[in-house]
Amino acid sequence: MRSLNISWGISYPRNQTGWDPLNDLNRILGNEQIKEFFYSSIAHNKISHAYIFEGEKGSGKKMLANAFSKILQCRGEGTKPCGKCSSCLQVDHHNHPDVIWVTHEKANVISVGEIRTQVINTVDIQPYKGPYKIYIIDEAEKMNPSAQNAILKTIEEPADYAVIFLLTANRGAFLPTVLSRCISLTVKPVPVSLIRRHLTDRLGIDPGMAEFYAGFSMGNVGKAMAIAGSVEFNEMREHALELVRHFHEMEDYELDGRAKECRVYKDRIREYLDIIRMWFRDILIWKTTGDQERLLFRGDFPVLCRQAERLSLASLSRIFDHLGETDRQITANVNFEAAMDLLFFAVRRLFSPS
Ligand SMILES: [Zn+2]
Repeated sequence: MRSLNISWGISYPRNQTGWDPLNDLNRILGNEQIKEFFYSSIAHNKISHAYIFEGEKGSGKKMLANAFSKILQCRGEGTKPCGKCSSCLQVDHHNHPDVIWVTHEKANVISVGEIRTQVINTVDIQPYKGPYKIYIIDEAEKMNPSAQNAILKTIEEPADYAVIFLLTANRGAFLPTVLSRCISLTVKPVPVSLIRRHLTDRLGIDPGMAEFYAGFSMGNVGKAMAIAGSVEFNEMREHALELVRHFHEMEDYELDGRAKECRVYKDRIREYLDIIRMWFRDILIWKTTGDQERLLFRGDFPVLCRQAERLSLASLSRIFDHLGETDRQITANVNFEAAMDLLFFAVRRLFSPS
């Protein structure tokens, strides 16, 4: 068994069977600084009462909060988390009595009532089982000002055993008083190469596809895993690729047809547009660097090359402008099909004759 030996002598075993591979700190990809920070806090017994984890959706905030909770609550002997004791198992299954995931009913707001009933009214009750009582509030930016003010008191005068994790995509939404009382940690994008290796080595995904998922996720592990496992995404990817591969030779009726078919992907249209963007980004990279290794769609290299010959840098720049404009139109609720139609025709026009 290989071990990750931390300088202060705590040993965190790896590859131990029976562990949830996603929930242990040492198995979370990237973000070494945050992990080191946790290990150090635990080793020096300096656990703070309130942490903010900021990072985009899918960046791993929940996994980090879960992993840290597990280490704090572990009742096992030796290395922590042991991964086997009832505490560890309960944290993993989200049913540990002292690790409370705060829930909210309305999609866009966490109300003061929800903070009161789930946090403030329970925090004075001693932990049932673990040494700590941990509250995890996901999408904490949705706490309205009164909810934030309510939790502030708990953060300012915490019970010894209380630890609060505020997970957020936007710490700017917190009141300055909340911000000043929390330790803020930024969850950063994970290097694409690490995600790619994770997808191929651990999940057995074909290297070419892993390259695409990792690159497309822009360092967001959650997103990479979600799209890798999504039939819907992969169908959409194929649809978008069939379009871009033949853009330069498509007839009007074919472009119209494609625009109509896109309606199926309306809910994920930004990802659809991103696939198109990545395709032309590959052409741009190929034209400017000649580095085939950096291309996401290496499998389509001959087609990329052919299109590269027919697109000037100025044309590519126009394509990116059109894609941005389509994003804006969709946000502004312009007729969906018309916006896609406009985009497809505009892009085709930019190819010079062969
Ligand atoms: Zn344990």
